[in-house]
Amino acid sequence: MIPSVLPTYSRAPLAFVKGEGTWLIEADGRRFLDLGAGIAVNALGHANPDLVAALTDQAQALWHVSNLYRIPQQQALADRLVEATFADTVFFTNSGTESCELAVKMARKYWFDLGQPEKTDIIAFTGSFHGRSSAGIAAAGSEKMVKGFGPLLPGFVHLPWGDRAALEAAITDTTGAILIEPIQGEGGIVPMADDDLKALRALCDARDILLILDEVQCGMGRTGKLFAHEWAGITPDIMMVAKGIGGGFPLGAVLATERAASGMTAGTHGSTYGGNPLGCAVGCKVMDIISDPAFLAEVNRKAGLLRQKLEGLVAAHPEVFEAVRGSGLMLGIRCKAANVDVVKAGYDQLVLTVPAADNVVRLLPPLTISDDEIDAAVTRLDAAATALVRETA
Ligand SMILES: *Cc1c(COP(=O)(O)O)cnc(C)c1O
Repeated sequence: MIPSVLPTYSRAPLAFVKGEGTWLIEADGRRFLDLGAGIAVNALGHANPDLVAALTDQAQALWHVSNLYRIPQQQALADRLVEATFADTVFFTNSGTESCELAVKMARKYWFDLGQPEKTDIIAFTGSFHGRSSAGIAAAGSEKMVKGFGPLLPGFVHLPWGDRAALEAAITDTTGAILIEPIQGEGGIVPMADDDLKALRALCDARDILLILDEVQCGMGRTGKLFAHEWAGITPDIMMVAKGIGGGFPLGAVLATERAASGMTAGTHGSTYGGNPLGCAVGCKVMDIISDPAFLAEVNRKAGLLRQKLEGLVAAHPEVFEAVRGSGLMLGIRCKAANVDVVKAGYDQLVLTVPAADNVVRLLPPLTISDDEIDAAVTRLDAAATALVRETA
């Protein structure tokens, strides 16, 4: 008999009833150190008092109004994002997938309005992840996600990650945009080198193509800059954001330059819940905290500490781990043991990690993780690796 919850996830036998900062408390009382943070969502930890206050204050006043009216919290968050980034304008969504949908629509509308309606193709990359909608799975293109769900949304071209020559050769008169994660998340924490991102921007300029960055996972302070592309000193034309921006409240956004957004006039796009007062009140507080240079400096310092300890962990368990990669507090450990076994061994040591493709275990802790918690996390991962070796010996 089919379970009452559609069984599209294979879930761990854990049910959390409370969160406190970097900690999740299981129904039986056990306290787990959370290095997954809801897959980079709880960027400021669980039950963050500032976010709880922002949400409950707004909840007392007004939950929802239609986008038929002006929404001051939405205006305030858009102003903050425009001030802090390359963007001139912002549309709010409720998820990364919805941000992908608009990014694709916006790029196509741009060329249509310019009198080049043939430029509908979007180049994307193997190993990428852009959400589970029809556009999202067509954009990522992996067999695992698209099989059985055809016919797919046309107009996506897939290239191997990191092959510059293949990319240049693939651009044609119908290419309208390139869509890429600066650091692949689901794909196994695979960073694009700064030089490659710079070359990508130059290529888009030279060939008159829009650059769409998917910063749903790597954005909002995760790498130690507000957005990951800042490390390369480039800017996109369109950017997808979600996950961390709501700190756990469902919120997403599409940021764009005035030029790229020029086709999106009244009536061309919409969302019932997008930019609602609750989500935007929380988002404003998240932005206030994360965009503070002192906060980002702390993320960088702690990222260095965690990285150094993880290098030691990998060196101490060569039969379990292979290498650490990633940026800031978006780190992956490529494993020799099966990554899912490492994640499971972590459960026994009360530490939560997240598997990704390419046999990687992901560490995406709250950006507010303390030095002591970093210590405890690595101690627990060490115990997990030791237990795993003993089990398989
Ligand atoms: C999670 C994710 C998405 C999809 O976001 P949802 O909120 O699950 O729809 C898109 N792109 C990237 C890079 C992601 O990590």
